[in-house]
Amino acid sequence: MLKILTNPADIKGATGEIRAGGTDLHDRYRMGVSSGAIIDIHKLDFGSIIENADGSMTIGANVTIDDVGQHPKIQSGYGTLSKAANGLATPQIRWAASFGGSLLQKTRCSYFRHPDLPCTKKGNAECGGRDGQHSNGVVFDKGGCTHSHSSTLATALLAYNATIRTTQREMPIADLYGDGSAHDRDHLLNENEILTHVILPAAIAGEKTAYFRSISRFEAEWPIVECSVRLVVEDDMITDAGVGVGGVSQIPLRLSNVEAALIGQPATQATIEKAAAVSAENANPLPQSAWKVDMMIGTILQTLEMALNG
Ligand SMILES: Cc1cc2nc3c(=O)[nH]c(=O)nc-3n(C[C@H](O)[C@H](O)[C@H](O)COP(=O)(O)OP(=O)(O)OC[C@H]3O[C@@H](n4cnc5c(N)ncnc54)[C@H](O)[C@@H]3O)c2cc1C
Ligand code: SF4
Repeated sequence: MLKILTNPADIKGATGEIRAGGTDLHDRYRMGVSSGAIIDIHKLDFGSIIENADGSMTIGANVTIDDVGQHPKIQSGYGTLSKAANGLATPQIRWAASFGGSLLQKTRCSYFRHPDLPCTKKGNAECGGRDGQHSNGVVFDKGGCTHSHSSTLATALLAYNATIRTTQREMPIADLYGDGSAHDRDHLLNENEILTHVILPAAIAGEKTAYFRSISRFEAEWPIVECSVRLVVEDDMITDAGVGVGGVSQIPLRLSNVEAALIGQPATQATIEKAAAVSAENANPLPQSAWKVDMMIGTILQTLEMALNG
């Protein structure tokens, strides 16, 4: 059954999975991993990008990933977000997929994506990945799910400490994902709660930004590790920093220890090398994912270098 919403209030009492662009949902339905009624939200009025009087930006959840990547104000003021949006998936996916769906997509773990394999996120008691194949698993193991979160744009939004708005509340982007202890969830929205907008704080003039992904092939693939960086440099000193990293944890991570190692330090190669190394301080990889610790440090360093020297 398909219900097409034209008013967000009509979600009350509706049953089924929300569909925006459908690029993740239909893949799962086709594979027999998900099934049942669909609540389509693409007609809801969350499809614009607005610059507010205080300089902040409000981005509707139904704008496409391409809209985000190509928007001139996002390109000029929020470089790592626009670079991440333009660097993920394929042009076809970026034209079809929504900004909201990119933050709320379900895991790409191959146990989850196979209809016959066990996975806590499909309601089974067992996590197939933990005792099985997890060579592309997390670097920061919290027990339970061993697969990293799939959202590239969440990583970039963490670097800006963005706020999200839903039909029920407003909260920092980090609270959308929690601390990673909810192993059966990809995000913490309630059933029938619709993500409506993302709010970015006012842009900082002259901010240096970069996005980099370590990937096994050039495009059309989720990265192994990815990083979003924003740096504010004044008089050769780093005065503010935002560092988000993906591919290493069950949730998209903001690395406050790396940020602390950057802020107040001279904007030099030595500073960013030290800061990148700090990222591994609390690493506790899985038996098969230990190789990703070096890849994480290298990916963060590469992104910091691109931001500083770009
Ligand atoms: C080849 C390929 C490569 C890719 N590479 C990347 C990559 O590198 N990085 C990356 O991040 N993604 C990647 N993707 C995934 C892609 O970004 C997602 O499929 C897409 O963003 C999902 O958006 P959608 O609008 O199609 O979501 P849908 O398929 O419509 O929905 C996805 C999920 O989000 C929920 N949802 C959607 N919108 C809302 C809302 N407003 N409120 C509440 N719930 C909602 C739905 O219920 C569903 O569970 C790739 C996809 C492909 C096919
Ligand atoms: S690693 Fe996560 S997604 Fe994969 S099988 Fe285990 S619980 Fe499911």
